[in-house]
Amino acid sequence: MSLTPVLTELGQKIRIHQSSCNKDYSCALGDCPSFVSVQIKPGTGLKKKTLPTLPPAEVPMPRQMAKAGDGYRIIGPGIGGTGVVTINALLATAAWIDGLCVATLDQTGTAQKGGAVVSHLLLSERPIEAPAKVNAANADLIMGFDLLGVAHQSNLSTARAEHTVAVVNTDVAPTIDTIRNRAPFGGPEKMFELVNSVTNRGRNIFVDANRLAEALFGSHMAVNIFLTGVAYQGGLIPISLESMEQAIELNGVDIERNRQAFSWGRKYYEDAAWVNSFLAAETPVQPSLDRVAELREYQNAAYAQSYVDYLDKIAEPALREVVAKYLYKLMTYKDEYEVARLLTKPEFERQALGMWASPESISYNLHPPLLRRFGVHKKLKLGSWFRTPLLALKRLKGLRGTPLDIFGYAAHRTLERSMIEWYRKLIDQVSANLTPDNLPLALEIAVLPDQIRGYEKIKEQNIAKVKQAAAEKLQIFQNTQAGVPVPR
Ligand code: SF4
Repeated sequence: MSLTPVLTELGQKIRIHQSSCNKDYSCALGDCPSFVSVQIKPGTGLKKKTLPTLPPAEVPMPRQMAKAGDGYRIIGPGIGGTGVVTINALLATAAWIDGLCVATLDQTGTAQKGGAVVSHLLLSERPIEAPAKVNAANADLIMGFDLLGVAHQSNLSTARAEHTVAVVNTDVAPTIDTIRNRAPFGGPEKMFELVNSVTNRGRNIFVDANRLAEALFGSHMAVNIFLTGVAYQGGLIPISLESMEQAIELNGVDIERNRQAFSWGRKYYEDAAWVNSFLAAETPVQPSLDRVAELREYQNAAYAQSYVDYLDKIAEPALREVVAKYLYKLMTYKDEYEVARLLTKPEFERQALGMWASPESISYNLHPPLLRRFGVHKKLKLGSWFRTPLLALKRLKGLRGTPLDIFGYAAHRTLERSMIEWYRKLIDQVSANLTPDNLPLALEIAVLPDQIRGYEKIKEQNIAKVKQAAAEKLQIFQNTQAGVPVPR
C-alpha cells in the first residue's frame, strides 16, 4: 500500500510513498517493488523537513466551541497506519485532562496498514452510561481522515441531516484495485455530495489535508493531526487548547511536529489563502521535461532530430501535442542501456539520497529479462558496486539497434522498437485525412500508446490490445472519410 499513483508529464506513474513504508523495512527482504535501496547510517531515518513555525499569536482562539453536555460523539473513519487511533487517544487524553468523562472504541479489524479503521469517541460532562460506539444518526462530528471511509454507508449512517458536521480530507487514497489495474484517478465530487446529503452541508469543511500537511511537514503522519487542527478551529472539538497541547506532549512522539501540524490546521481554517500562498512561495517550480534533450541522452542527436522532424510534419497543434507525448514514450522504451542511464542519472541519485538524514550508498533491486529466461523469478539485490557496470552499460547505448546489441535480439525488445515505426505510420494515416470534424477521433487514436504499460508479458499483452483498438478506430476514421455512418 506504499505504492501511489502519481500524474506526471509522461502519464500516470507509480511512486513509492516513502514515508508510509513499513517502519522496519522487513518487507524489503522480499520482492520490494523499488528499483533501488538506500543504505543509511544505523539509527537514522528520513530527513525531516525544517518545521515551518507559526508564532502562537498568529492563530486566534476559536470563536465558539461545541459543548460536551450529556454526550458529544465523534467518529473518525481512516486508514490503518496513519495515526487514526493515535488521534483518538490524544483527544480522549485531552478531554480527560479537562475533567470530561470519556469512552473510546477503535475498530481496527485486522488492518495494521492500509486497511479501514474507524475510531469512536464519546465525550460527556456526566458519567457515561452509553456505549462508546457512534450509532445510527447520533454522530456530532465526522472526522473524515479518509474520504472513501467517510463515504461508506456504515459510516454515513451515523450522520444526522442538518446536525452532524463533517470535516473531510479530500485526498482519495488509491485502493489496491486502482494500483493493480492502473485505473485512472476518480473524481471525489460524488463522494462530497454523498457526505453533504446526509450532514449539515452548510458547516461541512473539505480540506486537501494530504497535499497541505505533506508539503508543510514532509510526512503523511502530519495529515490527521493537521485535519484535527482544522476541526478544532471550527469549534467542533469541545476540549480546551491547553489540554490539547498537554495531550500532544504526553503522547511523547514527535511533539513539536504534532504541535505545529495542529496549529497549522487551525491557521488553515482561519486563513486558507495565507497557508496556500505560503506553500506556493516555498515550493520550487519543477522544470518541464525537455524531451529533445532526453532523447539526445537516450541515444544521440540524430535520434532526437528524427523526433523533431516527425513532429514538424504535423500541422494540427492539438494532434502534434499528443503525438509529441506518445512518440516520445515509444522512443524511450526502457531497455538495459536506458535502465542503466536512469538509475545512474545524477538528479535521480541526488533525489534518492537527499530524502535521508544520513545516506551511505545506493544498491539496486533488479530483475533482468535475460535472467528471467533462465528461471530467475525474483529480483536480484545488487550492492553499490553495481553502479560501475551500470555506468559501463549506459555508455554502450550506441550499440542499441545494431548487430552488436545482444539485448536487442530478444523478441520483446524487437517488438518495443517496432512500435515506433508502427505509431508513425498510424499517425501518418490519421494526419493525411484530418478535418476539424474528425479531430476528436484522431486524438483518441493518437493517445492509445498511453495504455502500453508494464514490463515483459504484461506490456506485450497491452501492445496487442492497443494495436487492436487502433485498427478498429482507424477503420471508423477511414469510414467517416468515405461517408459511412459512424456506429453507435
Ligand atoms: S515492500 Fe518496499 S515499497 Fe513496500 S512498504 Fe516495504 S519497503 Fe516500502
